Amino acid sequence: MFTGILIHKDESGYRAAIEPIDEAQLPAGDVTVRIDWSSLNYKDGLAITGKMPVVRSFPMVPGIDFAGTVSASQHPDWRVGDKVVLNGWGVGETHWGGLAQQARVRGEWLVPLPAAFTARQAMAIGTAGYTAMLCVQALERHGIAPGSGDILVTGANGGVGSVAIALLAKLGYTVVASTGRGNEAAYLKELGASAIIDRSELSAPGKPLGKERWAGAVDTVGSHTLANVCATTRYAAAVAACGLAQGMDFPASVAPFILRGVTLYGIDSVMAPQPVRRAAWERLARDLDPARLEAMTHEIGLGEAIATAGEVLQGKVRGRVVVDVNR
Ligand code: NDP
Repeated sequence: MFTGILIHKDESGYRAAIEPIDEAQLPAGDVTVRIDWSSLNYKDGLAITGKMPVVRSFPMVPGIDFAGTVSASQHPDWRVGDKVVLNGWGVGETHWGGLAQQARVRGEWLVPLPAAFTARQAMAIGTAGYTAMLCVQALERHGIAPGSGDILVTGANGGVGSVAIALLAKLGYTVVASTGRGNEAAYLKELGASAIIDRSELSAPGKPLGKERWAGAVDTVGSHTLANVCATTRYAAAVAACGLAQGMDFPASVAPFILRGVTLYGIDSVMAPQPVRRAAWERLARDLDPARLEAMTHEIGLGEAIATAGEVLQGKVRGRVVVDVNR
């Protein structure tokens, strides 16, 4: 038996609880992992509260990422004792996830824990941090270099936002952080933001085009914010969009794309192929300052995860939440 969070949906309603789970209930898969750390991402908040239909089958163990040690393997790439990390692939949505002491998954979903990180650090980064890296890499591929001008990061106090700021600043970019929490300015500057704007500047319905401001942008917010970011991005520059914290809609015009040659990159972490994942984790090992990572990380036990999931959706959590699944 092991302990985990289970989400049920039945005649009694939608609910999440900590429960003892029989190993025999683990789903099909060729690698079993003893989980050391998981994390709470925005999507886990949606799954645990049921605010959006993220979970597709019940009962479900939530948790879209985990770091742990292989305890059994029928997969040629993995042996007992290997340290591994998992992000996405529908884990925590359609396949039992990381907010438990054990998981059974397909070997091709796993990546090796980078030597530079402990399992706790890997989950402090988690899916949010790995997605932030994918966003930064999209801007780099576009040719946006340090010195190009201001790079905007929206949802700055969130997990993706915090890691994106730390990465961009370490790489030498000038970062402008957009936030609804001006009281966290000192934290955002500590991560490396040069300037802070209030998110209300971007969140209301705007014009098709505005003054050209951004040499690049990482948007975690979507909706009017993403539309306004595109409308104020400089000629031939690019925006990497990964999130929907304000909304899933995109009430924009084509003006930035056809009159300014702006490029909008969609960033998906869930189904990203293995080479893309491994490259992102390698870059995180090189370009993320461990002290800044620790400064943005808050640790909780599995028993606190359900309550904290609601706080994530309310925008009350700063940076990253790492979950010790064994306490
Ligand atoms: P967090 O909850 O940690 O951060 C979201 C941040 O967005 C908040 O901290 C807040 O920042 C801002 N925010 C919240 N509500 C609103 C609102 N109504 N209007 C404007 N801003 C708001 O989430 P994550 O950083 O983990 O994830 C961010 C987004 O990226 C989520 O939508 C998530 O689903 C998505 N995501 C997508 C992935 C992909 O593969 N495409 C992978 C990972 C995440 P502040 O207080 O500073 O304003």
